[in-house]
Amino acid sequence: MIAALKTAFTNLFSPPLTHGYPAVPLPKPEHWRGLIEYNKDFCIFCDKCEKTCPPGAILFSWALDGSKTYHYNAHLCIYCGDCVRECPKTGQALWQSETKATPALKADMPNEKWDALELNVKESKEAYKAHKAAQKKAKETPSD
Ligand code: SF4
Ligand code: SF4
Repeated sequence: MIAALKTAFTNLFSPPLTHGYPAVPLPKPEHWRGLIEYNKDFCIFCDKCEKTCPPGAILFSWALDGSKTYHYNAHLCIYCGDCVRECPKTGQALWQSETKATPALKADMPNEKWDALELNVKESKEAYKAHKAAQKKAKETPSD
């Protein structure tokens, strides 16, 4: 009886074991991995993130002048963190945020839109290579 009263009294003044979610955000699990964030100001456009990404959730489209544009698909991303580990500018150009993908963010990049983008990226790379080859050929060809 005394033990029960002691336990009841202790529990009365102990913090609750349950979480106050959603008013209080849940603590992040250990090794939490959030969305991939990118800052082009620090990117050296080495393409390592694109090459290492298992599902192809990062793509760079190329312009003829050699400049590149980053694209990311939160719907495809499996949050493995490989891109961040490979990035020579990790933490500045690429990092995993504290935020997770929201349905709205995923809805922003439906499969059809990404499929079209993949095609566009492939074509942009081919166009760049063809452009460079033509430039090289023009330099090598002696003018009259
Ligand atoms: S976390 Fe993994 S799946 Fe997501 S973009 Fe980076 S390499 Fe790709
Ligand atoms: S790995 Fe990093 S520096 Fe290289 S292209 Fe990707 S974000 Fe840019």
